[in-house]
Amino acid sequence: MQYLKNYIDGDYIDPIENDWLDNYNPSNGEVYSKIAKSKKADVENAYRAAAKAFPEWSNTTIDERSKILIRIADLIEQNLDTLAAAESKDNGKPLSLAKAVDIPRASSNFRFFGNAITQFASEAHESVGMNTMNYTLRQPIGVVGCISPWNLPLYLFTWKIAPAIAAGNCVVAKPSEVTPLTAFLLGEILTQAGLPKGVLNIVHGTGPETGQAIVEHPQIKAISFTGGTATGAHIARTAAPMFKKLSLELGGKNPNLIFADCDYDKMLSVTLKSSFANQGQICLCGSRIYIEASIFEKFKKDFVAKVSELKVGNPKDAKTNIGALVSKSHLEKVESYIKIAQEEGGVILFGGNRVEVKNLENGYYLQPTIIEIKDNNCRVNQEEIFGPVVTLMPFETEAEALAMANDVKYGLSATLWTNNLNRTMRLSKKLEAGIVWVNTWLNRDLRTPFGGVKESGVGREGGFEALKFFTEAKNVCITYEN
Ligand code: NDP
Repeated sequence: MQYLKNYIDGDYIDPIENDWLDNYNPSNGEVYSKIAKSKKADVENAYRAAAKAFPEWSNTTIDERSKILIRIADLIEQNLDTLAAAESKDNGKPLSLAKAVDIPRASSNFRFFGNAITQFASEAHESVGMNTMNYTLRQPIGVVGCISPWNLPLYLFTWKIAPAIAAGNCVVAKPSEVTPLTAFLLGEILTQAGLPKGVLNIVHGTGPETGQAIVEHPQIKAISFTGGTATGAHIARTAAPMFKKLSLELGGKNPNLIFADCDYDKMLSVTLKSSFANQGQICLCGSRIYIEASIFEKFKKDFVAKVSELKVGNPKDAKTNIGALVSKSHLEKVESYIKIAQEEGGVILFGGNRVEVKNLENGYYLQPTIIEIKDNNCRVNQEEIFGPVVTLMPFETEAEALAMANDVKYGLSATLWTNNLNRTMRLSKKLEAGIVWVNTWLNRDLRTPFGGVKESGVGREGGFEALKFFTEAKNVCITYEN
C-alpha cells in the first residue's frame, strides 16, 4: 500500500500523529493508498518551514524564480504519462482527458507564471507641479495558503501555487483529500527542479481539520481557495475577522443559451463537451441548456442521439468518454438530484441510471443524464449538481432567455450560441457571469481574468490578476527639492 506523506521543508514526512485516511480508486471502489491525516501541528510545521524560507525566496531574482518555475513545467511535461495515469486513477476521469487537459495545463500554469513574473511591473505616479513622485512597490505577502478541489486536481492546485511562488511567497497548500495523488507526486518534481526547501509545503488531510487549520493560522496572511460555495462562505467567516486577503473561486450553475441562428453542428458537438466533459464535474460546465423554441424539438432529438453514443466505462480505455464519478458519496448526491428531478415533474430524456462496467462492478459509474424541465426555479435547475446531468428548457425571446439565465444565485460562466453580432454584444454585457463564451466553451487564455460573480466567488485569478492577489501594493511617496 502506498502512503501519501506530507511534503514539508523539501522532504516527504509522516503526519505527526501517524494518522492516515483511505484513498479510493473510483474506477473500482477499492482503497489503493493511504493519505496523511494532518493535524494542526502538521500545518504548524509546514508554516514554520515556509516562514523560514521566505526571507531568501522573496529576495531571489526574478530571473532565478522564473527559471525554477519553468524547470517545474518541463518536468511535469516529461512526466506526463505517470502523472496522467495517477490523476485518472485517483479521480476516475478518462486517462485520455488527463493526458490531453489536466497535466498539460498543470505544466502550462508553471510555464505561464514563470514567464508572467518577468513582465509584471508596477506603476509610478508623478504629482506634477508638487515635486512629488509616487511609485508602487508590489511585495510578496509572506506565507500564503492554497486550497483546491478534486475535480481538476493538479490543474487547479498548480493554478494557485505557481503565481504564489512566482510572486515571491512561500506556500502551505492542501489538495482535496479525495484526490491527493498528483499533488503528492509533485513534491518530487519540486525537489528535482531545485525549488528551495520550504518554499512550497504540501499537507494532506480533510477540509474541516487540515484545511481549517490553514485558514485559521494567524500568520498565514492570504488564502486562495477553490471549492464549493458553502465551504467558501465558511472560510470567509473564519478569515474575515483576521483580515486575511481572500480569493474565492466557488460553485457554478452555468447557462448555455442556444439561438436558432447559430452554427448548429458546431454547437451540438461543443454542447456535448460542455455538458459532460470530466463527468460534468467542471465548475464551468453548461448544465442549464436553454434552446430557442423553433429548434427545441430538433435539438432534443439530436442531442439525445449524440449523448446515447457516449461510452461510459473504464477510465483507462481509450474509447471511454465518461469515466467514474469521483466518489461513492458524490455519486449518491448526483443520483439524489435525479430523483428530485422526477419528483419535481422533470422528464428524463436520457440516462438517470448507474452503469455496471465489466470487471469494475464496484466503480462509481453513471449514465449521462438529460432532463427536460418546465420550471426554471425547480431545484435541479437552481442547485449545483456537479455531475453528468443537464436540464433542457425552451425559450421564445432573447429577453426571456436572459432572464432565465440570470435567475440563479451563481454567476461563474455563460455560453452563448448565435451568429447575431448585435445579440452577442447585448447579451455579453447583461449576462451575470465572470466569463461569457460566444460560440465556444472552455477556451482559456491564461492572461485573462478568471472568476465569478454573485455566489460563484470573490476576486479574480489568471494573468496579472493572480500576481496582484499574491502581492501587497505599497505606495512610496517622495518629495524632492528643485
Ligand atoms: P469543497 O468545498 O468540498 O472542497 C474544496 C477544498 O476545500 C478541498 O480541499 C477541501 O478538503 C477543502 N475544505 C473543505 N472544508 C474546509 C474548511 N472548513 N476549511 C478549509 N478547507 C476546507 O469542494 P469540492 O472539493 O467538493 O469541489 C467541488 C466544488 O468546487 C464545486 O462546487 C465546484 O463548482 C467548485 N469549483 C469551483 C471552481 C472555480 O474556479 N470557481 C473550479 C472547480 C471547482 P477535502 O476535500 O479534503 O475535504
